[in-house]
Amino acid sequence: MREFCGLYAKEVKNFLEGEGEKAFRSKQLFDWVYQKGATQYGEMLNIPESLRSLLNEKVSLGLLTLEKVEDSEDGETAKFLWKLPCDRFVESVLISSGERRTVCVSSQVGCPAKCSFCASGKEGLIRNLTSAEIVEQVVLINHYLIQKGERVSHIVFMGMGEPLENYASVIRALKIFIDPELFNFSPRRITVSTVGMAPNIKRLMLEGIKVNLALSLHAPNQKIRKKIVPYARKYSLEEVLKSVRDYARFTKRDITYEYVMLDGINDQKENAEELALLLKGDQCCVNLIPFNPVPGIHLKRPERGTIEAFRNILTKRGIRSTWRYTKGKDIAAACGQLALKQKKPLEIDGKLV
Ligand code: SF4
Repeated sequence: MREFCGLYAKEVKNFLEGEGEKAFRSKQLFDWVYQKGATQYGEMLNIPESLRSLLNEKVSLGLLTLEKVEDSEDGETAKFLWKLPCDRFVESVLISSGERRTVCVSSQVGCPAKCSFCASGKEGLIRNLTSAEIVEQVVLINHYLIQKGERVSHIVFMGMGEPLENYASVIRALKIFIDPELFNFSPRRITVSTVGMAPNIKRLMLEGIKVNLALSLHAPNQKIRKKIVPYARKYSLEEVLKSVRDYARFTKRDITYEYVMLDGINDQKENAEELALLLKGDQCCVNLIPFNPVPGIHLKRPERGTIEAFRNILTKRGIRSTWRYTKGKDIAAACGQLALKQKKPLEIDGKLV
């Protein structure tokens, strides 16, 4: 069965044409799903019932079931736990900051990268999400925001999974996000964050989509990196940095380096000096992310003063950085935590909570 949110505009049009439907129906369908956030054909009152039942039979919509929403105490972060048709769970995070409404989407169930600080990596990869399962995360959160008079403004691929390990589905989802007939997102408002799959960074560059790229670097050298990010053993640091720099040159965008700060592992002054040297000459920004405690993971967040000292060295050496306050700490916002807590379906009075 086809999945509506994984289809390009042309594929929907071809389907409708093949069924003898009028051309303008595709526009109505796109409007319902991508502008109004509908995830049931039954909601689409200007679509004839005969077409709605045909679509119900042949093109699935509403693959994700909302299992749970958790809001942070400050109201700025909300985690959405979705149940997939296979009864597994993934999550998305909505981060509200000023006018920005950023959705952090998952691209896989579990993750093959197995980063030592991350809940998603604990079980390894379970399966790839389809492009429709990725796109629907944004459709549904957009629907949630529309009711409050807001809309999704930015998308980041930073939830569960390594997006470039699920290349075909992620590329299709990206093309659906930026298609003016569908979501109509500017590529400048979309960021793909990778742990460093060098060959697919190059492929992404050649696609010409020009979304922003972030590299989860987390270390100033390959020795420390391999300890924190087992996936780093696959590609040398030189190879990864080269692919990221080529990408930045090609797209004329700054590079973002993500750096999770772990007490006593990568947070020392000499680590900051080495990092500054490694990134010298890059048009980049380093996001310093104090580690967010994860149950069962025995790592610690550095003291505030340690992070400040680290950041001061980067600044002195001309490396731009941000210190990202980990929003949503009180709702287990480290990636994968909510989905890991929720291994079995929740049944709360037969209703969504
Ligand atoms: S931090 Fe990202 S890449 Fe690493 S295991 Fe978690 S989800 Fe995967």
